[in-house]
Amino acid sequence: MRDITHFIDGATVAGTSGRFGEVFNPNTGEVQARVALASAAEVDAAVASAARAQAAWGAVNPQRRARVMFEFKRLVEARMDELAELLSSEHGKVLADSRGDIQRGLEVIEFACGIPHALKGEFTDGAGPGIDVYSMRQPLGVAAGITPFNFPGMIPMWMFGVAIACGNTFVLKPSEKDPSLPVRLAELMMEAGAPAGVLNVVHGDKTAVDALLDHPGVAAISFVGSSDIAQYVYSRGAAAGKRVQAMGGAKNHGLILPDADLDQAVKDIMGAAYGSAGERCMALPVVVPVGERTAEAVREKVLAELETLTVGISTDPAAQYGPVVTAAHKRRVEDYIQLGVDEGAELVADGRGFSLQGFENGFFIGPTLFDHVKPQMRTYQEEIFGPVLQIVRAETFEEAVALPSAHQYGNGVSIFTRDGRAAREFANKVNVGMVGINVPIPVPLAYHTFGGWKRSAFGDANQHGMDGVRFYTKVKTVTARWPEGAVEDSAFVIPTMR
Ligand code: NAD
Repeated sequence: MRDITHFIDGATVAGTSGRFGEVFNPNTGEVQARVALASAAEVDAAVASAARAQAAWGAVNPQRRARVMFEFKRLVEARMDELAELLSSEHGKVLADSRGDIQRGLEVIEFACGIPHALKGEFTDGAGPGIDVYSMRQPLGVAAGITPFNFPGMIPMWMFGVAIACGNTFVLKPSEKDPSLPVRLAELMMEAGAPAGVLNVVHGDKTAVDALLDHPGVAAISFVGSSDIAQYVYSRGAAAGKRVQAMGGAKNHGLILPDADLDQAVKDIMGAAYGSAGERCMALPVVVPVGERTAEAVREKVLAELETLTVGISTDPAAQYGPVVTAAHKRRVEDYIQLGVDEGAELVADGRGFSLQGFENGFFIGPTLFDHVKPQMRTYQEEIFGPVLQIVRAETFEEAVALPSAHQYGNGVSIFTRDGRAAREFANKVNVGMVGINVPIPVPLAYHTFGGWKRSAFGDANQHGMDGVRFYTKVKTVTARWPEGAVEDSAFVIPTMR
């Protein structure tokens, strides 16, 4: 069986823990590889390698660091098909979606190519007599990233793209469920000209994460995953004196007002709810039609769309989504479907028991639809992370807006309407971090910034865009004085500008 190993100091490292995780082929249900799970020793080796590389890498001028990013982008683009196949083979998402995953990561690399501009500091000429004040952004040192299974291309690039361009070195702890692509990305970074140690990959579970959180050589931690772990990472990392950003789970709502283009809105919601088998933090698993007539029309149109929705293996070009990532995840989603029934929601389409000829052991779940879901139900309050769409009916606009605002998660939300005033009011008032107006998955572009509110994110700085640059740098402010003429008297009171 194939072993997936760590990547430390520019080389493959088997590790000494003797512990391994299983990596599945979600299409067939078979174990296809085992991944080494790090102990603190491998984490130490990776942090030591990153620390050795950092001073020289941080001293490379920003334009040359940007050139490494340009070359990395070229290398990834040249291998897009091979990398997408690798991603799909462990994650289960369809190939076109894997290409999208990598492409969204490359868009952050494109942003990182502009790092000389983003790192420019501020300067005040003549702040006082012979006095100039200027600020510069300096790298933090060694930063670490801990990433989820659902975007094994994009999310590592969100983190290491910006961190490395800013002059940090990086230790990535990717998800142990689909760990191969991040290693290939690290190899390509070396091929692009990043020196050994600038990007290391350590596989593992809680043991590796805790070792990174406690490690005195790690200055910053970026985490993306589920909310309870995000909160844990945030608390433990901050207690160890690190800068931490920790993105968590989500339950994104799509409001449909009576005046919306219903055909378009339902088409948009289908892709956002069921694409990638619902395993996206910006999926749209809750639809809130306003008014009974809208609700009935939406339900009817969703049911019509479900007739033609194709579930298949990840290499099937006709498939709209593939299997979920593991058998355990499939069970979790199916348990939620049962819970929904037990709680009294109406199960309109049941994806349990879905089977694909020739792939009977694959981790497939058919598209599932619930109607008459109520806010007090656990299936509404919690994240399911599967191909399950829930209709929560609201009588008024105010009632609809209150739902995402009151929810424990606040990652993304969308509104479908032709009424600009209502959309504007919604965008201003809703208590959620990322808002779409007639856009079902409002993931901001790389030069903007990504981050939710409430239990969807812990810490102050978002991912990528200028917030990413701020997260991975510290500001130094210099006050310089070049006096002319006679010696000035000592000042015993605090100097002020007069
Ligand atoms: P997860 O929380 O299980 O795992 C995320 C990372 O944490 C992995 O690297 C994993 O190895 C590690 N981990 C798991 N258990 C741990 C523990 N007890 N202690 C320390 N580390 C631990 O998440 P997942 O299942 O891989 O990913 C899905 C989740 O990620 C969903 O909740 C989804 O909404 C969320 N997500 C959020 C965003 C966002 O930006 N807000 C983006 C993508 C995914």
